[in-house]
Amino acid sequence: MKEYILSLDQGTTSSRAIIFNRKSEIHSMAQIEFKQIYPEPGWVEHDPYEILTTQIDAAKSAMEKGKIGPDSLAAIGITNQRETVVLWEKKTGKPVYNAIVWQCRRTATLCKELKQQGYEEEIKARTGLIIDPYFSGTKVLWLLRQIPGLLKKAEKGEICFGTIDTWLLYNLTHHHYTDPSNASRTLFLNIHTGSWDHEILDMLHIPPGILPEVRPSSGDFGKTAKEIFGKEIPVTGVAGDQQAALFGQGCFEPGSVKNTYGTGCFALVTTGKVPVMSKHNLLTTIAWDLGQGLEYAVEGSVFIAGALVQWLRDSLKIIDDAGETAKMAQSVNDTGGVYIVPAFVGLGAPYWDTDVRGTIFGLTRGSSRDHIVRAALESIAFQARDLILSMEQDTGTSIASFRVDGGASKNDFLMQFQADILGIPIERPSVFETTALGAAYLAGLSVGIWQNTDEISADWHCDRKYVPGMEDKVRIEKCRTWEKAVNAARSFI
Ligand code: ADP
Repeated sequence: MKEYILSLDQGTTSSRAIIFNRKSEIHSMAQIEFKQIYPEPGWVEHDPYEILTTQIDAAKSAMEKGKIGPDSLAAIGITNQRETVVLWEKKTGKPVYNAIVWQCRRTATLCKELKQQGYEEEIKARTGLIIDPYFSGTKVLWLLRQIPGLLKKAEKGEICFGTIDTWLLYNLTHHHYTDPSNASRTLFLNIHTGSWDHEILDMLHIPPGILPEVRPSSGDFGKTAKEIFGKEIPVTGVAGDQQAALFGQGCFEPGSVKNTYGTGCFALVTTGKVPVMSKHNLLTTIAWDLGQGLEYAVEGSVFIAGALVQWLRDSLKIIDDAGETAKMAQSVNDTGGVYIVPAFVGLGAPYWDTDVRGTIFGLTRGSSRDHIVRAALESIAFQARDLILSMEQDTGTSIASFRVDGGASKNDFLMQFQADILGIPIERPSVFETTALGAAYLAGLSVGIWQNTDEISADWHCDRKYVPGMEDKVRIEKCRTWEKAVNAARSFI
């Protein structure tokens, strides 16, 4: 019986594969890390073949561990690190260069040029994005300019472009497809029509022949070639990681929000069939297309969240393990006046300030390790608060609660402080792997494992709810000091 869905979760540092049963439970999983390549300061690359082989090996390993043969798999869903770019030769399938990763800042100058040429407003209106090296577009432009002869080949239709979903699909099913959630992060897609935007392609000198076909996120993406898993398996769900997590959290209704606390923070609010254009420096993005039209989200990201805890461990060496920070923070009544603005790589939404750097305020002789750890955790929550407030302003509605996931959402102190500082309850689900689950749902909906989103919603269970308990006066004072700290950090350049 085809009772299971295989979810391929291709992340920035590892490829994971998770097999879910029809009760949305994890049956088995496997994870393989791969190499990060840093050819120059600020540059980040991956080997596209390593991405592919680790992903296939993780899938085989999850099948083996769970004793699941290809006959038991109803479908495959794919979710992936977004914005990362691969270009390859159509004839041979061979990449022309390493994958340029979303974190890579090599196109900063190119972005400045585009802004100076006055493209910003037009690009924002059409794509929902801002001009930033983060998105795929300028990475493709860089490759076409830097690799001798590549532009000519691309113009002759000999080159394929793909984000990581497309690279995996091309190798698994031999089709050149993507879905709107991934396409909406490239800078090439018109989010209003869901089609590639030819005026932008002209503006950026991108040959349209390199682009994949955009297909609904839940639907037919072809079948895996027989030799890969021993049988052909249909791929019927594809979404970028943050949109997949939004889906996996059951945030289907307009106004529902999830926030992921990983290396950075990614908060998304579903806005339904309407693209809400942000006035507060958030991004407008496509959430998914279930085959019944595009649905949208507004997204805000914070660059440094859990990464600050890693810094406490690896650089300051004041903790041994992220897991001990909750207890340390709880061991003191407050931060003793210490505030940290963790702008190690500038600040993301809603500030988008690339020049500001990390700053610690309020140190005294009484400041202890515990105070600093507490201030670090609080800074993650303050940054997330800035995102949520911007979302409320953009959507014109107040957010009554939200759902959380990601490594740092295991931290009870952080989650309680988050609820306190926003004055709204937050909920953590029992299935933590919301990204992989989202891709499984998209795939499973298409083949009838789940009939509709109501059925999926019924499978969402709360592990723990954090109810706000902070006095208004205290909350207002803390938020005011945080805002002062951000402003002071931004003026110290
Ligand atoms: P990503 O998918 O971005 O790699 P994960 O969701 O796996 O991130 O979360 C890892 C991050 O969460 C790391 O930056 C780590 O420092 C942080 N983290 C993990 N556990 C805790 C914890 N208990 N408290 C605070 N931060 C944590």
